Amino acid sequence: MRNRAAFLDRDGTVIKLVHHLTDPGDVKLIDGAGDAIRRLRAADWKVIVITNQSVIGRGKLTEAGLANVHAVMAAQLAADGTEVDDLYFCPLAPTQNDQRVIEDPMRKPGPGMLLKAAQDHDLDLARSWMVGDSLSDMLAGRNAGCRSLVVRTGYGHKVETDFDAEAANLAEAAEIILKEGDAP
Ligand SMILES: [Mg+2]
Repeated sequence: MRNRAAFLDRDGTVIKLVHHLTDPGDVKLIDGAGDAIRRLRAADWKVIVITNQSVIGRGKLTEAGLANVHAVMAAQLAADGTEVDDLYFCPLAPTQNDQRVIEDPMRKPGPGMLLKAAQDHDLDLARSWMVGDSLSDMLAGRNAGCRSLVVRTGYGHKVETDFDAEAANLAEAAEIILKEGDAP
């Protein structure tokens, strides 16, 4: 059987929301995030971060700088006894503000990063979830054929539509995924 995944948005979902984060010193896991990821992986969920990083397209951060940010996140997850299976980022900057508009398949709400991850990790998208704090996350999940779960951390309080489940934070989201399982 192919694998199932919990796709996680990064900013406002795994780490605390910092607008256009560029300083690795600003990386801070949301309370309970490490434990949530550890529990999902222990239950045979691939945990894969899917993140729009327009800071690169905007010229505010290089790819090497982004790698430094992700190294700090990985170190904090390691301190909680876990890691993510993979991470995909889209460097493109948007040209408008409507989160429903797919400007490029690889930028959420486009499904491109999830489709790429599905190829790389032999994933069954219909058995997978996308977790995030933005409408673009919910739509990326749906556009890829996953179920979408909104967390109310970060910008999550603003999301009113286009999700299948909701949770206060990633810890509660993991509980829902573990309970609901992978049968759509
Ligand atoms: Mg986010």
